[in-house]
Amino acid sequence: MGFQGVGVNPGRVIATVKHMPEPLAEPQAGETLPPGADPAEVIAGLKAAALAVHDELKERATRASEDGKAVLEATALMAKDTMLLKAAGKLITAGTGAERAVWEAAEGVAAQFKALGGYMAERATDVLDVRARLVAQLRGVPAPGIPASSTPFILMAEDLAPADTATLDTSVVLALATSGGGPQSHTAIIARSLGLPAVVAAEGIEEIPEGAEVYVDGAAGLVVPEPGDEEREAAAKWASSAATLATFDGEGATADGHLVPLLANVGNAKDAEAAAALGAQGVGLFRTEFCFLERDTEPSVNEQADAYRAVFAAFPGKKVVVRTLDAGADKPLPFLTDTTEPNPALGVRGYRTDWTTPGVLERQLSAIAVAAVDTEAEVWVMAPMIATQPEAAHFASLCAGVGLKTPGVMVEVPSAALNASSVLKDVAFASLGTNDLTQYTMAADRMLGPLASLNDPWQPAVLRLVQLTVEGAKAAGDKAVGVCGESAADPALAVVLTGLGVNTLSMTARSLAAVGTVLKSVTLAEAQEIAALALNAATAVEGRAAVRARLPILDDLGL
Ligand code: PEP
Ligand code: MG
Repeated sequence: MGFQGVGVNPGRVIATVKHMPEPLAEPQAGETLPPGADPAEVIAGLKAAALAVHDELKERATRASEDGKAVLEATALMAKDTMLLKAAGKLITAGTGAERAVWEAAEGVAAQFKALGGYMAERATDVLDVRARLVAQLRGVPAPGIPASSTPFILMAEDLAPADTATLDTSVVLALATSGGGPQSHTAIIARSLGLPAVVAAEGIEEIPEGAEVYVDGAAGLVVPEPGDEEREAAAKWASSAATLATFDGEGATADGHLVPLLANVGNAKDAEAAAALGAQGVGLFRTEFCFLERDTEPSVNEQADAYRAVFAAFPGKKVVVRTLDAGADKPLPFLTDTTEPNPALGVRGYRTDWTTPGVLERQLSAIAVAAVDTEAEVWVMAPMIATQPEAAHFASLCAGVGLKTPGVMVEVPSAALNASSVLKDVAFASLGTNDLTQYTMAADRMLGPLASLNDPWQPAVLRLVQLTVEGAKAAGDKAVGVCGESAADPALAVVLTGLGVNTLSMTARSLAAVGTVLKSVTLAEAQEIAALALNAATAVEGRAAVRARLPILDDLGL
């Protein structure tokens, strides 16, 4: 029949399959020209390959979205870069094989760009991308990255990296399915932010032949080859409810008017503008590390202030919760992260980087304070990975030192949830990061497909910690509690979180309409009853099923 995985973003579609190509293997060190080969001819072959890569990227750029277009055009230019081709040509003349020559020449050019710093340093990534494309062209294998296509398809992969998104064109990629990855993995986050139906941890889908027709149900977590009438009807029903789910009316509330502001998770100004356009009532999580993922030096205070100001500008008069750099584990920042740690998720990440690299946090807070001065947004600041009361107090004192008035902490380490009343004593609010809270509660790496069933925010133990955080926040003086993990984007879980007493929900902007619609279908008292079902369930699966049975609107909308 079908393949059962974990649904991470709803939607039911039918299309043909394209698999993500295997990553390209490095050409053998010491590779030489084949005996008798004429270096001039090999160089001419390399130039032809470069032209083919250039033309293909240029052609794709004409069809890409704004962001993707810029990336593709920059890479296309690099394919014809004379510095790169000359350096490779020299190596070929000296007897190195073409693939190895490109590999080594690109390494050198990338190092030169890096040494120049700033904008030029970022071009190093384009050089390495073009290198892989050139080698693939020389080898006659598909280029790495998202496959090119002029017709719509369902993308299948083991997992996707954040860098894959730039060229992911949602007019042709209709859904994602991965054999690996968990519900909080990058594929899941990417899928939600792009609004693509997605299933992760669907073991065995790599066997589905390229070009086969499949049905993907991103709510049920199903991938079904050779779809029949039932699947075709479901896909048609989804297509017709898509309009209802495209617009959020701008006010998160239950049917009886209990307000639960629905906020957006953003990583840069562009996300923030898109979120504002979709009606987000503010930003509940600004992941600042996303502004600087590729940087190997610390951005200056001015540079940071510019990036933050641009996000604030999208939300005049509204709340924007800035999270200080959460470097480490799945989001390493070259200037902060020790990549040799044996257990990065349990290592020096988030707030803890202040212990090993002091100064970065204080400079970041200064930059946020500078940006906050001339904005109409209401700026709140929070630290990731807080585990103890003294850490929260220290963070609050650093914020006070630069005049930031609303300090808060993320509750994503179980100790902070268990001791919320003391941890929240010196701060103004808590934001539950249920992605990490789940991985740490269940001791299950959020990136691992085989552990996806443990890594599920429906786990009753995780919901118990949400409840304890809400109770602790009350005891600490009625402090506000939001949720900014992926759980807030699941409309059924959003009802549960509301019933547990959470005040705000922050999610990818694409989920606002679905969450808003489902929340408005229940009263607060009903949400509380529904929350009790999930909290008291024996398992995540039973809790989810019991809650879904109380919310028929989910099935009506194909959610
Ligand atoms: C979380 O852990 O739930 C969270 C929102 O932070 P991130 O996903 O960026 O780790
Ligand atoms: Mg986190």
